[in-house]
Amino acid sequence: MNEKGEISKINLQERITTFKEVSRGFSEAEALKEAARCLQCKNAPCSKGCPAGIDVREFISLIREKKYLEAVTKIREANSLPAVCGRICPQEEQCQMACVLNKKDGAISIGYLERFVADWYIKNCLNPEKNHPQSGAKKIAVIGAGPAGLTCAGELTKAGFDVSVFEALHKPGGVLTYGIPEFRLPKHIVDREVDYLQSLGVKFYYNYVIGRTCTIDELRAQRFAAFYIAVGAGLPQFLNIPGESLNGVYSANDFLTRVNSMKGYRFPEYDTPVKVGKHVGVFGAGNVAFDCARCALRLGAKDVHIIYRRTLNEMPARKEEIENARDEGIKFHLLTSPLELFADESGNLKGVMCVRNELGEPDSSGRRSPVAVCGSEFAIDMDTAIIAVGTTANPLLIATLQGLKLNKRGYIAVNDGFQTSIPDIFAGGDIVSGSATVISAIESARKAAGAISAYLRG
Ligand code: FAD
Ligand code: SF4
Repeated sequence: MNEKGEISKINLQERITTFKEVSRGFSEAEALKEAARCLQCKNAPCSKGCPAGIDVREFISLIREKKYLEAVTKIREANSLPAVCGRICPQEEQCQMACVLNKKDGAISIGYLERFVADWYIKNCLNPEKNHPQSGAKKIAVIGAGPAGLTCAGELTKAGFDVSVFEALHKPGGVLTYGIPEFRLPKHIVDREVDYLQSLGVKFYYNYVIGRTCTIDELRAQRFAAFYIAVGAGLPQFLNIPGESLNGVYSANDFLTRVNSMKGYRFPEYDTPVKVGKHVGVFGAGNVAFDCARCALRLGAKDVHIIYRRTLNEMPARKEEIENARDEGIKFHLLTSPLELFADESGNLKGVMCVRNELGEPDSSGRRSPVAVCGSEFAIDMDTAIIAVGTTANPLLIATLQGLKLNKRGYIAVNDGFQTSIPDIFAGGDIVSGSATVISAIESARKAAGAISAYLRG
C-alpha cells in the first residue's frame, strides 16, 4: 500500500505486456494495519451491505488477533469462495459502501482483507481429510461448475449428501475460469477452491453437457434424487447492426474463452493463438468489455477503444477496473453508438460507423437513455471488434425439460426456495437472475442447498 492508502500494483509496463495479476494485495503488516482501523461497530452495517451477509466485523476482529484460520473459517460460513470474492466482488457498492468510515477516512478495505486471509489459507493450510459421503446417502446432480454450482455442491456435501457436478467444459469454475482473465483472477486460485470442494467429497465430471451427453431423465434413472441447475447465462447478445459477421468480429465470450480457457495468451507454449489486430474496438462498458479490452492490449494491439453509448457515470464495470484500464491506455469513446461495421475489399473488418449521443430521460433500468444526435456520424478505424453487450440464457438444456417454466426474460422461474416447476429440479445463479455477480450466485446457491436438503429430508 502506498502513502495515499492505495493498493500496490505491478508496474505499468509489466502490466500491459503480461497477464500477471495486477494488484499485489495486502502484506501481513498492511492487513494488520488496515484491520486496526476498523471501529468494530456494534450494528456492523458492512455485513448488511454484503449480499451473502458475511460477518465482516468478526472476521476483521480475528485478523487483528492474527487468528487467520478462524477468520477464513468465519468467512466460509457465508461465502464458499473467499479468495475469488476478495478479488472480484464489487465491494465498493456493497460492504465497503455501507462501512461507516466510507464518508470519513475511507471505507475499510474489506475485500483486500478477505483476499489476504483466503490467500493465507491457500499458502498455509492443507485441505481437510477426504470426507466421502456415507454409503446410502441420497445422490444429487449439480449441473454447471460455476460459482453457483460449486457453492451448492459444497453445502450439500457438508450436509451429508452424495454430490456429483456435471460440467460441459474440461475445467471447473464457469466464468471464473473461461471469462475473467488471469490478471484479475489467477486460475490457480480457482483450482485451489475446487481442490477444497473435492477434499470435502464432491465428485466432478467434465466434458459432460447435460441435455446432450445425457439428459436429466437419464440421471433420474441412475437414482439421482434431486438436481440443481446452475448453467449460467452464457449465450452472447449482439448489436444487431450490419457487418457483425465480418472477419475480425468476435463475441466477448468467444474471445475470452480463446484467451483464458484455451490459453491463447500463452502461445506458442499452447498451440492456440488468438488473432488480435492492431486496432481493436470493444462495444460495451461492463466488466466483460473491460476484460476484453485489457486482454487485447496485452495480446499486442496498438490501440484499444471502448465504445459506449452512455457516460462514465453509467458504466456498469467496477470502478477499480475502469481506472486500471485508463492507466493502461485504453481509449474511451463515450456517448457513442455503433451504426454499422464495414469491411475492406477482402471482407475483413475495416472500421465502424458511429453516431454521437446525448442523454435523454431515464429508461426502465433507471439510467438516462442515449439519444442519437442527428448529423453527428463519424467512423473509427478498427481491424478487430469485440461485442460485449450482454448475454442471455442458453436454451440447450432448458429445451430438453418438458414442463420447466421460464420467466418473462427467458430465465428459469423458481419459487422462494429456488425450486422450479419440476419438483425435484432446483436452479440458481445467472440462469435464474440473468447476468449478475459472483456473490449473488453464491448467495442464491447457499439458499438453494438449504431448500434441496429440506426437500430430500421430507
Ligand atoms: P457461470 O459462471 O456461467 O457457470 C456456469 C457453468 O455451467 C459453466 O461452467 C458452463 O460451462 C456450465 N454449463 C452450461 N451449460 C451446461 C450444460 N448443459 N451441462 C453442463 N454444464 C453446463 N461478477 C463479479 O462479481 N465481479 C466481476 O468482476 C465479474 N466479472 C465478470 C467478467 C466476465 C468476463 C464475465 C463473463 C462475468 C463477470 N462477472 C463478474 C459475473 C459473474 O462471473 C457471474 O455472475 C457468475 O459467474 C455466475 O455464476 P453461475 O455459476 O451462475 O454461472
Ligand atoms: Fe469495521 Fe466499517 Fe464494518 Fe464498522 S462498518 S465494523 S468500521 S468494516
